[in-house]
Amino acid sequence: MSTTGQIIRCKAAVAWEAGKPLVMEEVEVAPPKKHEVRIKILFTSLCHTDVYFWEAKGQTPLFPRIFGHEAGGIVESVGGGVTDLQPGDHVLPIFTGECGDCPHCHSEESNMCDLLRINTERGGMIHDGESRFSINGKPIHHFLGTSTFSEYTVVHSSQVAKINPDAPLDKVCIVSCGLSTGLGATLNVAKPKKGQSVAIFGLGAVGLAAAEGARIAGASRIIGVDLNSQRFDQAKEFGVTEFVNPRDHDKPVQQVIAEMTNGGVDRSVECTGSVQAMIQAFECVHDGWGVAVLVGVPSKDDAFKTHPMNFLNERTLKGTFFGNYKPKTDIPGVVEKYMNKELELEKFITHTVPFSEINKAFDYMLKGESIRCIITMGA
Ligand code: NAD
Ligand code: ZN
Repeated sequence: MSTTGQIIRCKAAVAWEAGKPLVMEEVEVAPPKKHEVRIKILFTSLCHTDVYFWEAKGQTPLFPRIFGHEAGGIVESVGGGVTDLQPGDHVLPIFTGECGDCPHCHSEESNMCDLLRINTERGGMIHDGESRFSINGKPIHHFLGTSTFSEYTVVHSSQVAKINPDAPLDKVCIVSCGLSTGLGATLNVAKPKKGQSVAIFGLGAVGLAAAEGARIAGASRIIGVDLNSQRFDQAKEFGVTEFVNPRDHDKPVQQVIAEMTNGGVDRSVECTGSVQAMIQAFECVHDGWGVAVLVGVPSKDDAFKTHPMNFLNERTLKGTFFGNYKPKTDIPGVVEKYMNKELELEKFITHTVPFSEINKAFDYMLKGESIRCIITMGA
């Protein structure tokens, strides 16, 4: 029986309050409106950005909310005006959009779409500002326009990448955020030259994907920096060659890295969300040519402080969302890299849980045990 045009009742993991375990609820998911699609989510995973906004410590709280933005699924139905997607398409919802029509979408340099760039404070759909989720008539807020911790979700069609239907969604779902973010931060933004040295701050999925980018680019040394030394063994599999735990040193980590590298690394990529690490990642690059790229999502009141001389000495600081990839144009190609065995995804996936045990994925991340935990929706 077709569900097109009907409300769908399904399970969703709802965050009612900051920092409290998600609660499995039956929600009503409205049909997609103009330029929207409704997606049956098959696999989702947990990214640290979900955890920050769920904790809402340094972020604006917005509850009740359905989190989740790293996922894979199948289009169930499409709203008016959607021409590039149809029911049955295999898709990755993406937290940032590509309308195809704004100055950013026309620019080769930017993925900051004017219509649908990442907006962590928006709890409804841009068409009417309203939510497509409700429980007994009470609306539940969306998160990043994706809300993938639900068996069905409604997403703007500009935030949906159509991918090869042969790609296993339980693996390529991680391409929808963490993998592409880290990989692109190195390959598209830091752009190390063959033989250069790269420091990666934070060895979670995003940082390890950044390391993977450094390996693909032919970096000679990949220095991993993390406060959690348990990350170091795992990171060797990702080509990280040397390790620094700032807690093991009396001197600032910038100085430790400068001493290891004869003045600084050629490139650094920060994937922690800690403003201290962002400053360290900038100050540890070599003068004259060093480039640092910020990827971690900071707290609301953070401020980046460094001496201007660090810039005059010809260091460059950049930042990026989603590794500068354009969701629709570029992401199908990243999936193809996996299909062609140029990219390994399996090694990022350390845990799997059924949807009913989604809170375990939060525990694994908070304890620093998981790289990525895949949440299986049907289970
Ligand atoms: P994660 O929790 O799996 O990994 C973060 C790692 O950083 C951990 O191993 C932790 O021990 C380490 N760390 C924390 N503070 C540190 C410090 N001061 N110095 C060194 N290491 C430190 O998280 P993740 O899912 O890999 O995400 C990493 C960051 O990237 C988060 O801030 C997340 O919000 C952000 N993110 C950004 C984008 C983007 O488009 N810019 C997309 C996805 C995720
Ligand atoms: Zn656009």
